[in-house]
Amino acid sequence: MIGIGFIQPLRAKLACVLLSGMLCTWAGIAAAQEISLNTQSVSIQEDQVESIGGFWYVSKAEPKTYYYRDAGRWLDLFSYHCKDSNKDGIANLQISHDQNHLIIKSQGYPNHPTAIFPNSDNPNTISVQDFTFRLPLVPRKSETITRLPMGPVGMSLNGVVFFNPFEMEGRNAVAGYDEVWLDSCCGHPQQTGVYHYHKYPTCVKSPFIDDGKSHSPIIGFAFDGYPLYGPYESDGKMAMELSGEQALDACNGHSDSLRGYHYHVTPNRFPYILGGYAGEVEPTNNREFRRNAGRNRTGPIQDNTQPGDKYGKIITSVRPGNLVQGKSHEIHIEFDPTQARRPIPEGAPTWLQIGPYEAESIQRTGNSVTAKITIPKDATIGVWLDCHMEFGSDRRPLVIKRNDAARVTFD
Ligand SMILES: [Zn+2]
Ligand SMILES: [Zn+2]
Repeated sequence: MIGIGFIQPLRAKLACVLLSGMLCTWAGIAAAQEISLNTQSVSIQEDQVESIGGFWYVSKAEPKTYYYRDAGRWLDLFSYHCKDSNKDGIANLQISHDQNHLIIKSQGYPNHPTAIFPNSDNPNTISVQDFTFRLPLVPRKSETITRLPMGPVGMSLNGVVFFNPFEMEGRNAVAGYDEVWLDSCCGHPQQTGVYHYHKYPTCVKSPFIDDGKSHSPIIGFAFDGYPLYGPYESDGKMAMELSGEQALDACNGHSDSLRGYHYHVTPNRFPYILGGYAGEVEPTNNREFRRNAGRNRTGPIQDNTQPGDKYGKIITSVRPGNLVQGKSHEIHIEFDPTQARRPIPEGAPTWLQIGPYEAESIQRTGNSVTAKITIPKDATIGVWLDCHMEFGSDRRPLVIKRNDAARVTFD
């Protein structure tokens, strides 16, 4: 099976030779859309598991499985992501615990399709990491907000790290004049090959389908141990739209009686993932904390978006903007080559992706591209997905993108 669990740099797309014409198809790619989830809510007897602290439990039976009690549901958050998706003999994630921490060894390697890196807008190569993260089993609120460091600030369920919203020079990497090129899964690698997300990673599989009708599922954890949820608070309402007592704080968190304190991603609204740590942060998780040794800077990060639209003008339209779960779509994309910073090569794009969903076939006529994309039945509903295209099957393709290009709706 290709798809989730299929490692993109090995993907077969380069076998698609474009020289013979404008039509490009991949045999077998339809299978990529069949995503099997083995991380559903599970029925557990209390005597089958042992409490290890807070909402965390571990099975008494071997092999050990870790469960998180999320609003009354037993969740196996990690088993799906513990596979060896890059086939190097090492599982993407290995989980253990000690008295105070869940300990996660992570390869930090995306197990969803990504763009090819390096590409025209990013010189770096994604590489396998050897992370060890410690999440406090019982997160504790802190008197002061701890400032987010550069580098990893938390971890998504697949072991890929979250960064703060800033690029190296400290400017907003997600929007405005200084926007950096993130692929349609909202990530890119930095100089040492760490692939990371700066905003809501719409490609991370969570145990529950996010249908936008209730509180979103957990998609990761901050390094203070508090969980990070998707954008929704309740039916059709995003957490960032709440006001009053329930409104998100400067860290992007709030509390309720079921979940306690937790964070939400905020699509298109700074700080996008986390604004700071509300809890006591585990210092071993980031070099900056270790170096500061208890003298962490405090306070939430500040929005410094500069006016401008760096990538938004190249792809001028994506239609239809609404895609339906379980259906195949013919997507029509118009682009304006005069807005690209390098000449766009002849021929159809060699790759096209909207969120995690890969095109099965791509054709080009002039500056119009038509692509076939099948949306799986368990696609996340409602959130806007980015679209990216690659031109050229060389090692460094020209890439273009459009943010918030389409979203998935119910039939
Ligand atoms: Zn970055
Ligand atoms: Zn919430």
